[in-house]
Amino acid sequence: MALMTGEQYIESIRKLNMQVYMFGKKIECPVDDPILRPSLNSVRMTYDLAQEAEYEDLMTVVSPYTGKRVNRFTHIHQSTTDLRNKVKMQRLLGQKTAACFQRCVGMDAFNSVFSTTFETDKAHGTNYHDNFKKFMMYCQEEDLTVDGAMTDPKGDRSKAPHAQEDPDLFLRVVERREDGIVVRGCKAHQTGALNSHEIIIMPTISMTPADKDYAVSFAVPMDTKGIYMIIGRQSCDTRKLENTEMDVGNAEFGGVEALTIFDDVFVPNDRIFLNGETEFAGMMVERFAGYHRQSYGGCKVGVGDVLIGAAAVAADFNGAAKASHVKDKLIEMTHLNETLYCCGIACSAEGHQTESGNYLIDLLLANVCKQNITRFPYEIVRLAEDIAGGLMVTAPSEADFRDPTLGPVIDKYLRGVNAVSTENRLRILRLIENLALGTAAVGYRTESMHGAGSPQAQRIMIARQGNLAHKKELAKTIAHITE
Ligand code: SF4
Ligand code: FE
Repeated sequence: MALMTGEQYIESIRKLNMQVYMFGKKIECPVDDPILRPSLNSVRMTYDLAQEAEYEDLMTVVSPYTGKRVNRFTHIHQSTTDLRNKVKMQRLLGQKTAACFQRCVGMDAFNSVFSTTFETDKAHGTNYHDNFKKFMMYCQEEDLTVDGAMTDPKGDRSKAPHAQEDPDLFLRVVERREDGIVVRGCKAHQTGALNSHEIIIMPTISMTPADKDYAVSFAVPMDTKGIYMIIGRQSCDTRKLENTEMDVGNAEFGGVEALTIFDDVFVPNDRIFLNGETEFAGMMVERFAGYHRQSYGGCKVGVGDVLIGAAAVAADFNGAAKASHVKDKLIEMTHLNETLYCCGIACSAEGHQTESGNYLIDLLLANVCKQNITRFPYEIVRLAEDIAGGLMVTAPSEADFRDPTLGPVIDKYLRGVNAVSTENRLRILRLIENLALGTAAVGYRTESMHGAGSPQAQRIMIARQGNLAHKKELAKTIAHITE
């Protein structure tokens, strides 16, 4: 099999025996759960678009490893063009879903593990790169969705993994066997874990030799014995249970996060990509974080496009589109959004080849990209709320709107421009609410802050990559200072 259709993808996830819990209950069929289904639809879009001739060059690529056309989400970047196309693909998907489509973490894990295993093998004579390549080709052939899991719960932030009172607060090897390892721990905020076939685990921070058991990377199927997920709550999530499409704002698409527990999970030798080589933990973290910080210069921009469009439609429906301050706010939103895109494209265009042969983004620029993402979507949301008006959070429910007595009253008093139905006005406001405060706010707002690392993590990288010494030399030369 090369490329799956969206329907085949859904059915392939249905076949997995995943352990999923939500609201204190085991979810027997996550694929059909009304709260979870929109997140699956978002991943499905990565399959559906790959089937369309119009998007073939963006969504698919011929793999140099299998010689076949594969989905770009399973691709190992071969050039800076590949890096740029990745960002463009993510913007497109953000536009089509207005949500997190989840499949990027696997793609970013693929590329960071690919290059790190190559360098680890060179230093240690291990066999991780071949292990990874075999796994990667299997995922390309089967067109699988892979979750990339980095974030451990981390416990007391002042203590290293081995120094935590509870040794499981970072995922670790608890047993080494002839045929593999047994791991225990948890990965937090796992975007799309329950919509993935496989999961790649990576360490979450740089490590010292004392953290040997924690410097571990591997891949296992999501329904491996011992793995279970507890789904994260999202603001307004239970609106999806009310059968009120209007109130949800974006009824078809969403994202979802899970606390993913590894309760003594066995990993066979050929699925291990790092096992105790602590000095390479930092490299894997840095590269994965860099790729995912680049990713945000695509996906968040695409969702931003939808939000800007929604604000403009709300202005039209309110009769405010001609007001100069509204026009200016839309310009400002566009300026901010395109600045983020510039960062995503720039860190891609300035990428370079690694020792393993794949392409890595410019790490300084990728970190600048994500640092801007921790700020600009907040301003874009602020301006969208400004344009939308308070009705986006005070409008009556769809149930009231459909009520034979109350409906006509709502219809009369909440109409804006007469030619536009009140229903359409409310629909666009609910979409803005969804992106600003509802279920999608997880993916658009708070994830902009903390996803791919919180702001301070980027500032550390900016300090490291910024080459201040060189800048000082430049200044001294211009000022004719000799020491
Ligand atoms: Fe992809 Fe963006 Fe979601 Fe990360 S946050 S998985 S980059 S859509
Ligand atoms: Fe993310």
